[in-house]
Amino acid sequence: MPQEVITDRLLRSWLRCRRRAWLDRHGDPDRRLWTAHRALALSDQLASFQRLLPERPGHGVAACAAGAPGVVGVRLRSPGPAGQELQAHPPLLQRVPGRSVWGDHAYRPVLGKQGRNLTREHRLVLTLWGRLLAQLQKAPVPQALVVASDGRGLQQERLSLSPSLERQLDDSLARLASDLQRPQPPPLVADRKKCVLCSWRGLCDQEAAAQGHLSEVSGIGGRRREMLLELGITTLAELAASDPLQLAEALAVHGDQHADVAAQLVAQARVQASGQPLRLDPAGLDAPLPELDQAPGVLLYDIESDPDARDDFLHGFVVLPRGGDGSWPAAPPAGGAWRYQPLLARHDHGEARLWQRLRRLLARYPGWPLLHYGETEAVALVRLAGRQGASQAELAALRSRLVDVHARVRRHWLLPVSSYGLKAVAIWVGFRWSQPGVDGARCLLWWRQWRRDGGTRRLQRIFTYNRDDNLATWAVVRWLLDQRP
Ligand code: SF4
Repeated sequence: MPQEVITDRLLRSWLRCRRRAWLDRHGDPDRRLWTAHRALALSDQLASFQRLLPERPGHGVAACAAGAPGVVGVRLRSPGPAGQELQAHPPLLQRVPGRSVWGDHAYRPVLGKQGRNLTREHRLVLTLWGRLLAQLQKAPVPQALVVASDGRGLQQERLSLSPSLERQLDDSLARLASDLQRPQPPPLVADRKKCVLCSWRGLCDQEAAAQGHLSEVSGIGGRRREMLLELGITTLAELAASDPLQLAEALAVHGDQHADVAAQLVAQARVQASGQPLRLDPAGLDAPLPELDQAPGVLLYDIESDPDARDDFLHGFVVLPRGGDGSWPAAPPAGGAWRYQPLLARHDHGEARLWQRLRRLLARYPGWPLLHYGETEAVALVRLAGRQGASQAELAALRSRLVDVHARVRRHWLLPVSSYGLKAVAIWVGFRWSQPGVDGARCLLWWRQWRRDGGTRRLQRIFTYNRDDNLATWAVVRWLLDQRP
């Protein structure tokens, strides 16, 4: 592609992160990682479009001329304000009343979004589509349409393509063009939470680690990083060398909540710089998991969810009995496996049936703690039981069985990890997932594909991923147990 071409995809990348657009244009394509997020977004968008226009859409400019209600596959191009060529490929055009080059009808662009909010990225990409479409149909495009599917149906929102949006688009295109001319990529994005969704994350993680970027310190997001930069602390090593009291005083101007965590941030940076974990209770008298002392076994528990549909579609358990000698096993018995019990929350079966199955399973292992990583499982299970009319005594018993391993790790240890999520901590203790490169987004994609098309293999892969998450939780538990003085 010639350097002067700017596409809607490039604009989208740039609006998320300036560095990303530069890498899209100049980066080594072999360094890109596949991410399921784009496939998920496209499948969501397709589902929304099918609800909006149940008939099959027409294809290309010929379908616009014929007045099809919906049209896909139209490629738009036009000279840009700074001499570049602009190219765009809107995913759907919807016929609207009005006069155009095609007669007594015109079109407007439609975008399918995930999440609730209409972002600047949505607005400016729609403005670009509207501008190029107006040139093609020789008629203005005053409005665009945004659609989103949620549990309640199809949400539709009209966006006025105002002169102010046009100005913002011109400004963004000019800055994007200038960024693309840079010999080196722009810096890492300030808030690296966004990087989870980005195909360049492998490359940028490496860069962040090499630089000792402050975002590598667990607990530092975009805002705190800015505060530290203002104080002249630019790297993990400089934070590790800081005086916690002085730092707390300096951060107090931004609010007590920042001053209060100063000592913790310095301690975390020191642990990461040294690579050595730090016990928060140096004598080790406070056991992290006292529930396991007398337990005959544990149930490892992990939920897979579709957040947009607010659907916890899989409750997966691994049944892990205590060894005959009273010890906790590090791995399944030779040649065997711990029993894995997946409970699918099928809509056609209803929640009452799911709750009965969960209840039966839990009753089969009385007194066995339910170990999970993060608060999702506890919140979801207790809510589900409440909705199904569990008594106060039953809810209290359920709560007392649930043990959040993540909370215990945080309460007892500082670890040399940049995140205390299950992936980072389990990998640090040496656990490896049996399906490399699979993450929650990929699992969700398989689930949606399974619901649409079926397929035993897809379901099996979801179960394997869920079982591995449970085994990863156990690897962290084992590490905690092994550190007992
Ligand atoms: S991984 Fe993060 S910093 Fe790197 S390009 Fe993507 S969003 Fe930007």
